[in-house]
Amino acid sequence: MKLKHLRLWLMLSMTISVNSYAKETAYRLSTLIKPSYQQITLKVDPDSPSFSGETTITIDVTKATDIIGFYQKDLNIQQAYLMNGDIRIPLTVSSHDYDIQHGKATQNIAANRYTLHIVFDGNFNTTSDGMYLSKFEGLNYVFTQFEDMYARRAFPSFDEPGFKIPYQVTVMSPEKHTVLSNTLVNKRTVKDGWQTVEFNKTKPMPSYLVALAVGELDAYDIPNLSVPGKIYTPKGQAHRTKFAAKHTARILQNLESYFGSAYPYQKLDFVAVPNFTFGAMENVGLVTYRSSLLLLDDEPRLAEQSSTLNVIAHELAHMWYGNLVTMAWWDDLWLNEAFASWMASKVMMDLYPEQNFKGRLVQEGAFGADASPTVKPVKKVVRSQSDVMDGLGLNYSKGESILQLIESMVGEKAFQKGIQTYMKNNAFSNAQADDLWKVLSTVADFDVPTMMKTYLEQPSYPLVEFAANGEISQSRYHVKGAEVEEQTWIVPLAISYKKNGKVSRTNLFLNTAKKTVIELAEADWIFPNENAMGYMRWKVSTEQLAALLEDISVLNVREKKSLLYNTEALFSAGEIDLGEMMMVMDALVYDSNPMIGRAVVSTMSDFLYLVDKENEAIFGRFIAKKLTPWFERLGVEDKPDDSTDTSRLRGSVYGMLSRYANTPKVEKVSAQLANQYLADPSNVPRSIATRALRNMARFSDQDWFTKLRDFYVANTDANIRGTISRAMIFTDEQQITKALDFALSDHVSPANAMINVYAAISGLDDQTIFYIWLDKNFDALSKKMPAYHIARMPEYFSSSCDADNIMLAEKFYAGKKQNFEGMARSYDIAIDSAKQCLSLKDNNQANFNRYLKAATNN
Ligand SMILES: [Zn+2]
Repeated sequence: MKLKHLRLWLMLSMTISVNSYAKETAYRLSTLIKPSYQQITLKVDPDSPSFSGETTITIDVTKATDIIGFYQKDLNIQQAYLMNGDIRIPLTVSSHDYDIQHGKATQNIAANRYTLHIVFDGNFNTTSDGMYLSKFEGLNYVFTQFEDMYARRAFPSFDEPGFKIPYQVTVMSPEKHTVLSNTLVNKRTVKDGWQTVEFNKTKPMPSYLVALAVGELDAYDIPNLSVPGKIYTPKGQAHRTKFAAKHTARILQNLESYFGSAYPYQKLDFVAVPNFTFGAMENVGLVTYRSSLLLLDDEPRLAEQSSTLNVIAHELAHMWYGNLVTMAWWDDLWLNEAFASWMASKVMMDLYPEQNFKGRLVQEGAFGADASPTVKPVKKVVRSQSDVMDGLGLNYSKGESILQLIESMVGEKAFQKGIQTYMKNNAFSNAQADDLWKVLSTVADFDVPTMMKTYLEQPSYPLVEFAANGEISQSRYHVKGAEVEEQTWIVPLAISYKKNGKVSRTNLFLNTAKKTVIELAEADWIFPNENAMGYMRWKVSTEQLAALLEDISVLNVREKKSLLYNTEALFSAGEIDLGEMMMVMDALVYDSNPMIGRAVVSTMSDFLYLVDKENEAIFGRFIAKKLTPWFERLGVEDKPDDSTDTSRLRGSVYGMLSRYANTPKVEKVSAQLANQYLADPSNVPRSIATRALRNMARFSDQDWFTKLRDFYVANTDANIRGTISRAMIFTDEQQITKALDFALSDHVSPANAMINVYAAISGLDDQTIFYIWLDKNFDALSKKMPAYHIARMPEYFSSSCDADNIMLAEKFYAGKKQNFEGMARSYDIAIDSAKQCLSLKDNNQANFNRYLKAATNN
């Protein structure tokens, strides 16, 4: 799965009492009953709110029992029984914790092979979990999203990733619909306006990868694939998939060659889903995508191509890693995701160098969350859906960073060989992270498992300090004032240093709290993070830092960016003062490389927590002074030979200026761009359009709410709607309330409601009116939004760096957070980050204000 946002799930009032299974494993099924094959027949009509079905599961009972366990959630079980030849054993089904069902027989069930038959019915979900209804341009569709634990909402099953079995799916639906599943159609018959579509048996796979799509779908062929494949869309949209179709075979071939094996399944379809909570989902043979990723112009702007290509590569990488070789249990899901993300970056670097994935510092996306005193390790106990989701977003980026680090140490070729061996050893089966580390150990000249343990089984990351006498020490990085436990890591250091005027390099492992390396004593400067591959922060003396800045040209682009972010982290940790931080920023602010420019703007925006009504004007002058040279150079119009980095830098420079330094010139340009976009959205890049529209929403005295809403309603394109939603940031309270109400209207899909609410409250300094609105509308909002969005509400809506707002949040969630699975954890994360921010503000506000004054006066 590819996340657009971090995800969590909710389960209502789940109790933690223990059932008849052994205590430790009460959240899993007994291993004494083994399924080997499942047939599912579903009657699905997208125009009806409910569905029905029956399923037959072949099982081996390996030890006599009177209970057959399986999963289901929100289904009505009409009948359940076992068959062995002609013998029929009726089962009485009762529900237990973790959605586990007990089918109890009145007699002993001897060890033997049986078929488990279950007849059931249920209602379609409407919040895009499980098997769900989706409306688009007046038509109804049914799609599925089963990862992680939602196959059980569509059919009773052995819904754990360790049970990898073949499935055979049959769907009955009104004849007009296209019906899709993981394999090709074996047989289709039509009677009385209903069709029965029987799909081929699948290869062995876990239940979370079973998928269905039913509706009036249109299709466009994917050319040059080695297996049959089409992109399916809601009616009338197929012609907009040419860009995705054109690139798919190329990406697939690149992966086949990396893994050294052919695409493992029978066909490969994509579906553009109009109401989709995540980015995409790697169902075997039927990948579902947020429609904004597949429905595009034939040749999108360069910067607007990258997420589509990257997500396709990510999902297709899962066909091997995740699908062909599956984690044994959900506690290794992070590795599926880390691997797919890492692999996708590799494909992007290989096939699309113009997107410059080489320059990305993935670890920077993890460091913030991973510094929290309450963050959990990547590897942790997982029992429920919300345990899986807790920190998964962080784990994507942390995991990818660690894989990248190992690859850089082992070497690309040897790493690839290790991966190929691992895939071959475990094809169509399950494996654990440890199995991968063991294989990589055979191609590495260091102890991979032991090093991995220090990064995966404990949270956070090291701060490595270099003393003048050559002593290197490590401690757990944390923001100033936070209390954390002491830890050590095995830290690989690839060090460049200058001593006596000569630049040298050395590699070493820091595997203890302290170590002395004589050759580093009295160095002029030290840069210990070659090519910015490390998962750590580091510190040298002020003099060494100044000397390094004198020689800044020895660093490559990744290293320069990393130096800037590292300095900012040291400042947040209270290790250096603001002057030192700004010294590094000033050394880089006019670097001619647009990637460095973006890193500088991103660092400036990290200081926004220190910007308030009092200093906003002077901050605006500071921003104008630093960024106007870039603005003059880049303008707002894209040019045909712009690199993606140039386009992105243009967007961020213009974004900062139009928000904080709204000169008459900037405002005039913004009005022009906003109107140009509304006249024809293809005229203005999305990143520029969002910012121009925001400028109007914030500063214009016209009614931009009505203008934006009407435009949103008139356009069904997901990218246009996304641009408009993100621009609806008003400061006028009436318009804010209207924007919030709009999120609840039928025009905004359940999966997108969260984005609209988030934008609507972004313009508020004092969140009182938001909580008044939320009090009144919480029931409606929680009925509408996907479960994991509800669980994550505290993080999405209530992260704040303002003590009054935090009090409002505390009051609001006090009676609610225990009622929604996952919400209490999300609340803790939000409050934790708010507290860190408040403490940083306390520490830094006065200095920052003084700095701004000094910086804008000269
Ligand atoms: Zn994924």
